[in-house]
Formats: sequence, structure tokens, C-alpha cells
Amino acid sequence: MKIFVINCGSSSLKYKVFEMETENVLAEGIIERIGIANSFLKYENNKGQELKIEAEIKTHKAGIQLLIENLLAAEHGVLESMDQIKAVGHRVAHGGEKFDSSILLNEEILAEVEAMSDLAPLHTPANLMGIRVCQELMPQTPQVGVFDTSFHQTMPEKAYLYALPYEYYKKYGVRRYGFHGTSHGYVAQKAAELLDQDLEELKIITCHLGNGASMAAVKNGKSIDTSMGFTPLEGLVMGTRCGDIDPAIVPFIMEKEDLKPAEIDNILNKKSGLAGASGVSSDMRDIEKEAEAGNEQAELALEIFNYRVKKYIGAYAAVMGGVDAVVFTAGIGENAIETRTEILKGLEYLGIEIDEQANNCRGEEKIISSADAKTKVMVIPTNEELVIARDTKNIVS
Ligand code: AMP
Repeated sequence: MKIFVINCGSSSLKYKVFEMETENVLAEGIIERIGIANSFLKYENNKGQELKIEAEIKTHKAGIQLLIENLLAAEHGVLESMDQIKAVGHRVAHGGEKFDSSILLNEEILAEVEAMSDLAPLHTPANLMGIRVCQELMPQTPQVGVFDTSFHQTMPEKAYLYALPYEYYKKYGVRRYGFHGTSHGYVAQKAAELLDQDLEELKIITCHLGNGASMAAVKNGKSIDTSMGFTPLEGLVMGTRCGDIDPAIVPFIMEKEDLKPAEIDNILNKKSGLAGASGVSSDMRDIEKEAEAGNEQAELALEIFNYRVKKYIGAYAAVMGGVDAVVFTAGIGENAIETRTEILKGLEYLGIEIDEQANNCRGEEKIISSADAKTKVMVIPTNEELVIARDTKNIVS
């Protein structure tokens, strides 16, 4: 069975085509700058053929049509007909409280997702656009929605409710939802497999450290807390997002700088985090380079980032009553060796002891704690698209 996975943003669209018998990727890539000058399609197939097609891609529909042409192309295509695609799996940013698992999309469900789009105004409309275009271009093919929030729907009330007037929760759905759910769920399951233990019996802290970053406390296979909140702005320090701050800073800066809500929102989401604190870049590699060259502000940004992750490890060990495993994933978690070392320094009291030789790895599935450490530490590359493909297959089978 072949499954098409789509992650549609407002001006970009990432895709993968899976052969589910082997879970191999047949083709993958991205369409970028949709509706903007210099748009292009990047395409790579399982024979190692790579293409970058520069074309005027004015709409998502035009982008997906171009992609379909290439999937069917004689020289580098991987399909004979689009009928070989048995279903399309879509990443959907927000499933609110309604969707605690992936679901076959129909008009009723889509109306419910649309009604929740004010919870993720930057993402949901783009996700819906991807779904609509696929419905139009592949009318006979089932479409499945896989929500970033679903995995965290197991959180107890005390973890997801904020201490705000309760009516805001009732009226507007203001609560913690959490994101990166497919990633946290996937790496927690993989960690149990790597330890050859039952996920239901483990206390795992998952650290998804990428440009967006979040952590989750996964107890007995269920998310009981996570660092992102009502939106993906809360929690860890991220590439350009501030993470946790005193909320009183928001009106304070707004008054001082005479900012409108959209302007302060932009600063907290796009100009803060590693970029804001370092004054260098949002990219961990750039900041590491600057810090190595003696830039003290870059060094400080790294320390702030690491310190926040360490605090959450402590918090999640506390709420779970201990921790059996800590998992690092995503761009920084999988690759930043020094960052992992710094985060875990001083956590020996939790049974965490890193093996520096084992930790000298990037992007590979590996246990990096010393052999006799009570708490295992692991690097596990995430694979959100595979989770979407598996859920999609299960739903249509
Ligand atoms: P992601 O959003 O998961 O793609 O992660 C992007 C982040 O991972 C960026 O901050 C990158 O700088 C960081 N990253 C990727 N490769 C490395 C590496 N080799 N060392 C340190 N950070 C890395």
C-alpha cells in the first residue's frame, strides 16, 4: 500500500510517498515559496535522483499538480498512476479537545477543524488548504488528519488548566494543548523498544529540540504533561520563540514600545528565543560557532537554552515520581553533542550519567548513558511522517 504524506504550510508544502509494506520512502521533498517569487519544487526519489524544479507556483494546487507530474514522470517518477496512492495523510496542527486520535476526514470533521482555526491561526488554514487541494485532485482517495495535539489529550486537568478565570477555558478553550505529539509518541515508543521494555511500565522524558522545541512527560505510555501550551510559544527556549516568560512582560513592553497585539506576538514568536538572546541567529549551529569564537552573548544564549531544558527534566521527574529514560530528538537533540552534555551535567542525582564516547554521535539511534547508569539516555531520530503514514494506513485498512 502506498501512502502520500503532506505537511502543508502557508507558503510551503513538505511531502513523502511511502511504500507501507516496507515503510520505505519512495519519494520526498518540499515545495517552497508558493505564491511568492522564485518558487520551486525539490524532489528526491529512492534511486537517489534529485531535482530542483524552479517554476512559477502561484497556488498550492499548482504546486501539488507539479508534484504529481513528477511522481508520474517516466525518468524519475515512482508511480504509474495516482490510483496507486491508497490514502493521503495530512499533518494538522490543532485538533483541540475534540480529536484525541487521527481521523478519516469528511465534510463534518473538516467543518469542526475549521471552527477551531482561531486556536492555530497560522497553521490550521494552511493545513485545510492542503486537504482541500488533495480532495480536488484525488477525489476518490481517502484523506486522513493526524493532529499534533492528539498525543497530549491524556494530560490530567491539573496539567492542562491554567490558573486563569475558569470561564476563559469554557468560553474560548484557553488551556494547555501541547504540540509535536506525533514526535513525542514515536520516540517514546522507540525508546521502549530500544530498552526492550514495555512502554506501559516506563517513565520517559522526551526532549524534541529543533527550531521549535518541546518536552513531554510520558508515563506508562501516556503524555501527562508537556511544555508547549495553548500555543507552541510556551515552554522551552526555541529558535525564535521565547518560551516561558512572566506574562506581565507582555503589557509592559507593549506600553513601553507602543506595540499592538500583533506586533508583540510577532516579537515573541519571531524575534525572541535563541535569535533574540544571542543576537546572532536562530540556528544552533551558527550560535555554537560564534560562542566558540568567543562571543559571550552567544555563549549565554546556549546556557539559557540548556538551563531551561534541565529545569523541565527536573520538573517532569518530579511529576512522574522518577524517570527511567530521557530521549533526545529533532535537529538539536539528535545532533548537538555539547548541548546534550551541558543539559545533563549535574543530574547524577537522578541516575543520569552520560558516556561521552557514546554521546559523540549525530542522527543515529543510540543509548548514550553509561552502561551502569540507572536512568537511560537515548538519541532517537524522530520520524513524524512515518507516524502519519502508519496512522493513515491503519485508518483506511
Ligand atoms: P529541526 O527544526 O528539527 O530541523 O532542527 C533545526 C535545528 O537543529 C537548528 O537550530 C539547527 O542548527 C540544529 N542542528 C542541526 N544540525 C545540527 C548540528 N550538527 N549541530 C548542532 N545543531 C544542529
